[in-house]
Amino acid sequence: MAVVTGGRRGIGQAIVERFVREGARVGVFCRKKASDETLQQLEKQGTVFFYQVDVTDRVMLEEAFARVNKEIGELDILVNNAGITMPGRLESLKEDQWDRVIDVNLKGIFLCSQIAVKTLKNKGGSIVNISSMSGMEPYEGMGAYSSSKAGVIMLTRQMALEWAQFNVRVNAVCPGIIRTPLNEYLIADPEIHAARAALIPMKRIGKPTEIANVVAFLVSEEASYITGQAVLVDGGLLGSIQSHIKGRPVSKAKNSC
Ligand code: NDP
Repeated sequence: MAVVTGGRRGIGQAIVERFVREGARVGVFCRKKASDETLQQLEKQGTVFFYQVDVTDRVMLEEAFARVNKEIGELDILVNNAGITMPGRLESLKEDQWDRVIDVNLKGIFLCSQIAVKTLKNKGGSIVNISSMSGMEPYEGMGAYSSSKAGVIMLTRQMALEWAQFNVRVNAVCPGIIRTPLNEYLIADPEIHAARAALIPMKRIGKPTEIANVVAFLVSEEASYITGQAVLVDGGLLGSIQSHIKGRPVSKAKNSC
């Protein structure tokens, strides 16, 4: 069985639905109840279970993981997906905004994983942390977010190193631009949508299911020898920076640089 934090919408929901299709029972940790009909249906069928938890609250998490073990079964997989953004340039970002982003995006993963590994270490298992392409390259006006997501990549490597002895594999997935409720207010604007898609070598914005596919692979037996890795899933965006340097010959180039 699996636990997915932030699984009530967006990328987390796609991961939950994928796991259910693969035959898993899934515990979803979020602060609010899911309003989505498909998830409510899965809850009625007894394949998805909701727990109202804030991933920054150790006491709530201890209680929720204990309930999961009792109500759904012994944990095999944890996906740390819950995350928030807090736009703001570093010179004016408030201390409590910085703290909240680091607490949810980074400390939340530490807390969930530390509690989960107590069960996982008995029989092996898998943890996937959702980082971001912003954890690999800075994102102007999103300093707290980028720093938290870079931290997720190192935390993933650290956990992988320390928990390999328990046969617990830990990997990260770094999404590029994926259309979800998090950025819907921007992407719903056709101009912004088109401008963003044009920047991406694959010329389109990603879908939550395209992240769920990678997570499903990483937790599967197919990935049994992969640990401590951060997989970028961005349609080629991060690797395309040199294409935006004006004045470079792009074809028939001789001695170009
Ligand atoms: P959404 O905002 O759609 O979903 C975020 C989920 O996290 C919600 O279910 C929310 O539920 C939950 N959540 C937020 N704070 C907490 C908390 N303190 N405790 C428990 N749950 C919490 O985001 P996305 O689906 O877009 O993003 C999912 C992950 O992917 C995030 O980590 C994000 O940073 C990352 N990502 C997304 C990208 C994108 O383009 N969409 C790009 C790169 C990375 P609730 O409010 O009920 O708690």
